[in-house]
Amino acid sequence: MIQSFHAHVYYRDPAERARAETLREKIAERFSVQLGRWHDNPIGPHERGMYQVAFNPEIFASFVPWLMLNRDNLTILLHPNTGHPRADHLKNSFWFGEVLTIENVELLPEASDEDERATPNTTPAIPI
Ligand code: ZN
Repeated sequence: MIQSFHAHVYYRDPAERARAETLREKIAERFSVQLGRWHDNPIGPHERGMYQVAFNPEIFASFVPWLMLNRDNLTILLHPNTGHPRADHLKNSFWFGEVLTIENVELLPEASDEDERATPNTTPAIPI
């Protein structure tokens, strides 16, 4: 079962980081999502700086098409959280733009019983 999704928004230089910042603001203004911290240095399975947007299945149909049209050519990994982190990153995911390497695969457990529902921290005010 898909409990939630992550969209990881990557950037590799200050120009891309600035576009990622604009995208982050637009997302926060429009969608009830959980915005993660900025990681300017690669962390975990991610080969590039990024931030994470966690969201629940209820908004997939509005958020993902919006992201397709508004990602400003940034590379994004979209993966579900099904309780199988390794498969969710390697097999169940899809990419916008470039396909990057999933690193440190050994750190992604085959199975996890963590509660992966997103806890939104935005207060959207702009209807889409
Ligand atoms: Zn993730």
